Amino acid sequence: MEPPYYNKTVEETFEEAQTSPSGLTSVEARRRLSIYGPNTLEKGTVINPFYVFLHQFMDPLIYILIIAAGVTTFLGDWIDTGVIIAVIIIDAIIGFSQEIKAEQAVSALKTLTAPRARVIRNGHVEEVSGEELVPGDIVLLASGTRVPADLRLIESIHMEVDESTITGESLPVKKDTAALSVKGVAIGDIHNMAFMGTLVTSGRGQGIVVATGTKTQLGSISVEVARVKKTATPLQDRLSHLSSRIGIAILGLSIVAVALGIIIGERLIDMLLTGIALAVGAIPEGLPVVVTITLAIGVKRMADKNAIIRRLPAVETLGSTTVIASDKTGTMTRNEMTVVRAYAGGRHYRVSGVGYSPDGEILAEDKDDPRNNKALEMCLRAGLLANESDLEFDEDKKEYFPRGDPTEVGLIVSAMKGGLSEGQERVRYVELDELPFESERMYMASLHKDPGGEGNIAFIKGAPDRILGMCDRAMSDEGEEVEVDKGQVYSIVDSMGAEGLRVLAMAYKKFPPHITGIEPEMLSDGAVFLGLQGMYDPPREEVYEAIRQAKMSGIRVIMVTGDHKATALTIARKLGISGDGAALTGQELDAMTDDELYEAVGRVSVFSRVSPLHKLRIVQQLIRRGEVVAVTGDGVNDTPALKAAHIGVAMGKSGTDAAKETAEMIITDDNFASIFAAVKEGRVVFANIRKVVLFLLSSGFGQVIFILATLAMRLPLPLLPSQIIWMNLVTNGLQDVAMAFEPPEKGIEYQKPRPRGEPIISRLMAERLVVIGVVLALGTLAIYTWELERGVSIDKARTAALTTLVLYQLFNVFNARSETRSAFRMSPLSNPFLFFSIVASIIAQVAAIYWEPLQFMFRTTPLELADWLVIIPVAMTVILVVEAEKALRRLIKKG
Ligand code: ADP
Ligand code: MG
Repeated sequence: MEPPYYNKTVEETFEEAQTSPSGLTSVEARRRLSIYGPNTLEKGTVINPFYVFLHQFMDPLIYILIIAAGVTTFLGDWIDTGVIIAVIIIDAIIGFSQEIKAEQAVSALKTLTAPRARVIRNGHVEEVSGEELVPGDIVLLASGTRVPADLRLIESIHMEVDESTITGESLPVKKDTAALSVKGVAIGDIHNMAFMGTLVTSGRGQGIVVATGTKTQLGSISVEVARVKKTATPLQDRLSHLSSRIGIAILGLSIVAVALGIIIGERLIDMLLTGIALAVGAIPEGLPVVVTITLAIGVKRMADKNAIIRRLPAVETLGSTTVIASDKTGTMTRNEMTVVRAYAGGRHYRVSGVGYSPDGEILAEDKDDPRNNKALEMCLRAGLLANESDLEFDEDKKEYFPRGDPTEVGLIVSAMKGGLSEGQERVRYVELDELPFESERMYMASLHKDPGGEGNIAFIKGAPDRILGMCDRAMSDEGEEVEVDKGQVYSIVDSMGAEGLRVLAMAYKKFPPHITGIEPEMLSDGAVFLGLQGMYDPPREEVYEAIRQAKMSGIRVIMVTGDHKATALTIARKLGISGDGAALTGQELDAMTDDELYEAVGRVSVFSRVSPLHKLRIVQQLIRRGEVVAVTGDGVNDTPALKAAHIGVAMGKSGTDAAKETAEMIITDDNFASIFAAVKEGRVVFANIRKVVLFLLSSGFGQVIFILATLAMRLPLPLLPSQIIWMNLVTNGLQDVAMAFEPPEKGIEYQKPRPRGEPIISRLMAERLVVIGVVLALGTLAIYTWELERGVSIDKARTAALTTLVLYQLFNVFNARSETRSAFRMSPLSNPFLFFSIVASIIAQVAAIYWEPLQFMFRTTPLELADWLVIIPVAMTVILVVEAEKALRRLIKKG
């Protein structure tokens, strides 16, 4: 196809793109995809394993080890050289596999959040991955859609597009479909095209794909799209800070140890190697990677529970969430709208039937025939025609399903129950224009040729307060225009709302024939009220329990809805979030200053008739109160609120691209319960990171003081450098990663939210760290001196000390599994990875003692039964002491 496309008419574009209003066939789309290639700007970022492997060697600790290997080679100490080199390689392999795992987890996120596009293919609407678009595809656009390719528009219904991504112009541009006659038009003036990367801010439309991928305007601007920069999460930052401080401390202690050793007459070179080994062993260099893995595992667990994390920091912030401000419709309720009540021409009706099946009847309260009520017929017609959605029939499943907005489909179903046929109505009332629904407006309207009159007729439906504002007459059951008793209508709206029904009002307004387009200003008055329809939308079953648990765990749930006050309060009460029963409306919010709202959000939990802007104000004031706020949103206008909140939550099904792009988290099933599930997982992540920190630090701390103590006591060096390195390999190499897989501790959902910015090492952890360190050091010292006094060889005494420390650290794993609960109350098999890593370590240690090649490498000697009988009980003391400490804390807490 030859550009410029904007000079072509719609027909010419169809012809040149070799497509039609029913779109391409799947076969043709596949053929074109192989010709034009995928619709992307960047090549997939592949993890380069070689680079990741190299990366393992760019670590100061490794430099030290390499120097150490050089020194031992120089001294002709071949065994030590071998051990050190082996350690470097094993370390690199472990680091490599950890990092690859972390990278994979992070990049898996990207595919989960890849953009989708709605296209017409094979004659009906389908959702495809944005990458699969090809020239000739017909793409549907709606408010909030990120335009997925360059499109020549073939329909624009009040559509406006924000093109700032490519033109820099921040005001949205109105779009139409007329061909331009001049050439060389600037992008910003091409009104009949929509360009990839721009954002539809209101209205809707359709366009034919004319360019994809790098052939698009966006592609020509930036073929080199900036790589998403890897940013560390605040927690990762704090942790790497912590590890470097610990590293420096351990380095300092190692230097002290070296100095001490030299003073007491050890060989300089021996002490240097010991110092290096100590530093390498005790510094928790694996911590940052383990944290990434823990975060990634959290992300994976959340994805399993329908919560997709778009930014890693959200994982940790989620854990400290104190307020969840959530939409009602579709999030707390099922968004399955069934009209059950109607009011028209002064009469009340019940509507029977369930779900979207049009089987059902409209029954008058006074047994009168509903067909005699002209107002009811028009009311149902308005609901049917002022409608952007469809009721479709699934031939395979033999059931009806909604396409589009459930509220609107509910109205189609009720009209069908009342005897209207969508097909016939659409033929009789030819549509001229349409004003799509927007959350701010709270109504929609469509303009039709009036078959009963000279001119045109607009059907309007929406929130009763908005609709009644436009009406100065009402239709009677006989079809006359009569006076409207708004007071009475409002009281009926209230009573329907009190039953938990979502109430929509219908109206019409007539226009002379020359009016063929419709604008909001034209509806400010002069409309005729037709009636009300009340629909039931049952709460989601899981939400009851989620809200109950949220409350127990100190999280406030706030309902923020566009629905009517009475409806919102009734549903809120049902779900247990109404608080003191107060609710504020958007109107009341408008009358409040920020300070008044600041006070109000502290007590009110239900906000009704709010627009996205009110939502933003509510979030802002909650944040001012020091809350950590998660807020839901789906429309393009929700983005400011999503941005302002700590955790913006976009709806996966009903959410627009704009909302999803801004959100920290996407809920794929639009379910409130999934938000809460993610919060719980966020808590688990932080808890598990703390467990790893405690485990690594306490073990390292123990060995450092043990070695310092022996030096201070002028005992011979208790561990050879190779032994220190070995010990850390068998006790930390797998266990730290395994701890990332710890299942949630029981009752984690009942704890209060963790204050944000709370230090990683709490006071409890610091105290326990010292306790464990001292126990480890004292016990190992006891074994070592006992063996020496027994007169065994120095090799044997060292083997005993080494084994004691290894066992100590393995037992210590169980201590770290819970901050408060007894290790004996947790099944060792609840984390199989951890369990088997410990078994593997024990086997490795036994091999190091009894298998000749390892004996030779580590200069170990076999231990006898008598040694084991002392070593095992001593090593177990670390569990007993910490158990006693935990019990003591529990007692103090109770008493
Ligand atoms: P929510 O989804 O939180 O209930 P919305 O902003 O979607 O809020 O809707 C606000 C109000 O606008 C609804 O209470 C209803 O009265 C009206 N409304 C909702 N959907 C439509 C629609 N498709 N057409 C006309 N009016 C609508
Ligand atoms: Mg809605």
